[in-house]
Amino acid sequence: MIAGHWDVVVVGARIAGAATAWALAPYAKKILVVDASQATSFWPQQSTWDRDGALLWADLGLHETVLACGAPPTYGHTFRADGEVTEQDYPRQDAYSYRMTAPREVLDPALLRAAQSRNNVTVLRPARVRDIAIQGGRVQGVTVRHQGAEHPVSCDLLVLADGRLSRNADRVGAVPYQVIPSPWVAMLAYFADLPLPSDRGYICLQRDNVAISTPCGPRQWCVSTDMHQAMLDASGRHPAQEFARIIAEDPHLGPAVAAGRRISPVGGAGKLRMQRRPMSGPGWCLVGDAGYHLDPVVARGTKAALVAAQLLRDRVAAAGEVRGAILEGLTEQRDAAMQPDWELAEQACLPAPSRV
Ligand SMILES: Cc1cc2nc3c(=O)[nH]c(=O)nc-3n(C[C@H](O)[C@H](O)[C@H](O)COP(=O)(O)OP(=O)(O)OC[C@H]3O[C@@H](n4cnc5c(N)ncnc54)[C@H](O)[C@@H]3O)c2cc1C
Repeated sequence: MIAGHWDVVVVGARIAGAATAWALAPYAKKILVVDASQATSFWPQQSTWDRDGALLWADLGLHETVLACGAPPTYGHTFRADGEVTEQDYPRQDAYSYRMTAPREVLDPALLRAAQSRNNVTVLRPARVRDIAIQGGRVQGVTVRHQGAEHPVSCDLLVLADGRLSRNADRVGAVPYQVIPSPWVAMLAYFADLPLPSDRGYICLQRDNVAISTPCGPRQWCVSTDMHQAMLDASGRHPAQEFARIIAEDPHLGPAVAAGRRISPVGGAGKLRMQRRPMSGPGWCLVGDAGYHLDPVVARGTKAALVAAQLLRDRVAAAGEVRGAILEGLTEQRDAAMQPDWELAEQACLPAPSRV
């Protein structure tokens, strides 16, 4: 039975939505998670985190869940720039001092299974939220479209985790207060059986592109490039063709990829915009890319999603229940926590002459 009252409705069932549903479940009677996509969709996006991300997973009680996804921890990377190759090791402070990259096709379902294991979390998929009921300036509920029927539901809290193109964020009036167009086109594909180390990544920095490989599973690697739009415009080639060229010409990745096999389509995204929206308002809260979208070039989207989930969880935990939670000031808290990451991404998106 979909119609009726839910303490929380979460729109979006991927990193941000699944982690938030998991984190709020102890404080709610019933949570409804709605996602428009098929569970089996291929998402040409990565999830990467460093020590701060691992600590966030642990704080949310999801560290074991993400480790069980089978991505190997990495402890450094080979770095190539201007023909110079150096080995960079990550500082070893504790058990969380690693970098990890998990394919979304593995990570997102694992997070959702964890949320569903809470017993008070119901997942509806594929189902879409299009209409939001607002009365007296406060969100009262949503209409869920599922299997051709419309289901009106009411809720105490609407969590929008529906990604960077969220129309629902517009509907609740979460107007972006900072937007930075990105010049980068991010492309990636997954490969198996590459003759590369499984505990180290690789980054090659060139003037108008970056090529990266990261171990992401048993004998599996994610190979990605960030390409400057000006480079693509000059070449006139499709981003997938440029992706193949950059990888083939790379002295480290070219021979490795030739010896292994590609196990996913090549996909990605371009013409992106970094964007910050208010994190909360009366009866609603934004988590993940919906409220805070960083350019993928800095690989901090996972951290942003986890920071928002943690902040919201803390407010609800302080109240002991969803209904009484005070959501004011979350925007400032989130922005302060993410400021170094935002500045890094902003710097990467500046016009080329300003980037040092
Ligand atoms: C090419 C690329 C590479 C990236 N690499 C990295 C990286 O290395 N490291 C990193 O940390 N981040 C990376 N990112 C960013 C990362 O993928 C995002 O930050 C992350 O996916 C955000 O998760 P999310 O849950 O907020 O939103 P999403 O993953 O976008 O999920 C939103 C969900 O909401 C659903 N939805 C949308 N509208 C509705 C609706 N009306 N009703 C119901 N459901 C709806 C969608 O179907 C979708 O499942 C990359 C992104 C791209 C594009």
